[in-house]
Amino acid sequence: MSASVYLDHNATTPVDPSVLEVMLPYFSHDFGNAASHTHAWGLKASRAVEKAREQVAALVGAEPQEIVFTSGATEAINLAIKGVCEIYAQKGRHIVTLQTEHKAVLDCCAYLEKTGAEVTYLPVGRDGLPDLAQLERAIRPDTVLVAVMRANNETGVLQPVDAIARIVHEKKSLFLCDATQAAGKIRVDVNEDGADLLCLSAHKFYGPKGTGALYVRRRNPRVSLAPLIHGGGHERGLRSGTLNVPGIVGMGAAAVLAAENAWTIGEHLSKLRTWLEQHLLDLGGVYINGSTRHRLPNTSNLCFTGVRADQLITRLPQLALSAGSACTSALREPSHVLLAMGIPQADIHASLRFSLGKDNTEEQMKEVLAAVVAAVNHLRAQA
Ligand SMILES: *Cc1c(COP(=O)(O)O)cnc(C)c1O
Repeated sequence: MSASVYLDHNATTPVDPSVLEVMLPYFSHDFGNAASHTHAWGLKASRAVEKAREQVAALVGAEPQEIVFTSGATEAINLAIKGVCEIYAQKGRHIVTLQTEHKAVLDCCAYLEKTGAEVTYLPVGRDGLPDLAQLERAIRPDTVLVAVMRANNETGVLQPVDAIARIVHEKKSLFLCDATQAAGKIRVDVNEDGADLLCLSAHKFYGPKGTGALYVRRRNPRVSLAPLIHGGGHERGLRSGTLNVPGIVGMGAAAVLAAENAWTIGEHLSKLRTWLEQHLLDLGGVYINGSTRHRLPNTSNLCFTGVRADQLITRLPQLALSAGSACTSALREPSHVLLAMGIPQADIHASLRFSLGKDNTEEQMKEVLAAVVAAVNHLRAQA
């Protein structure tokens, strides 16, 4: 009986023990409201939040005043897209994005379409990458925002956001980069990546769930946003509501950890991922979905032809795997990402995502390989 192995880190990661330790006092002893500036409790909470703001800013090469704390990347994306559309309505109401973006982006765009906005959803090739000439042609004088993710959560495919940002800026539009899946795995830098807006989520890099951030550029250009949530004017009026101090403190600590260790963790993950992937490819009738050149070090989205991914998952109860993103796995719909990449329906239903994390070991990869090979062989023999 092999031990259970968690291979679904693109859905969420555990809170690092050192991060939890830093958070704990802010639930009880240091429980102050960060907006209460008339006493020591409030001031202590406020100072902790501002320290976390510096830590999160440092992870992405931003200034602390450019960071707005939110409940996660979904909220940050909603704030960015809806906030830009409202403020820049004079310029127009056209958005450009990719068909392979996260549902938070796509559903937000679909909602705005119902209110009269226009959205261009660009296709991608089999490698998961768009045609940049087509992207350039899609940007119009009334395009207020172009939204492209740094790393895809299902395939790990990396977008050339620096090149995309240059095109967007030449066309005088704004660029939103969803870096939720990239932060802590590869280098993310708002200036190198050319982001005017960039979103993050703590629980994807060993921080707590329910805390995220939106970077909002303050210079060259200064980006304005309309808030989604109105209230006491917290976060410079962009996100009212009493701050989640323990969550924010945890996000700051996780950001420090991510910045310090991203390189070594990336090397470790890339080694494990490559080993597992190469051996699984040896099975035959297995292929990698998406670009292998432009890919996160921890993600492997594999198609096991002739096998149903849901049956494979059922036969592997000791492994935490996913057929697509956590957000759509409840729906049993074929992955919109693989669909957009032109992968045949049967192969989409035969695809599984392995997303590794820093605590995975070589020993675990051997167990995973043996279990997956046995399950695939069993299911293929039955077919
Ligand atoms: C997880 C994820 C999100 C949503 O983040 P939450 O903080 O869970 O709302 C958005 N985009 C990408 C690419 C993600 O992986």
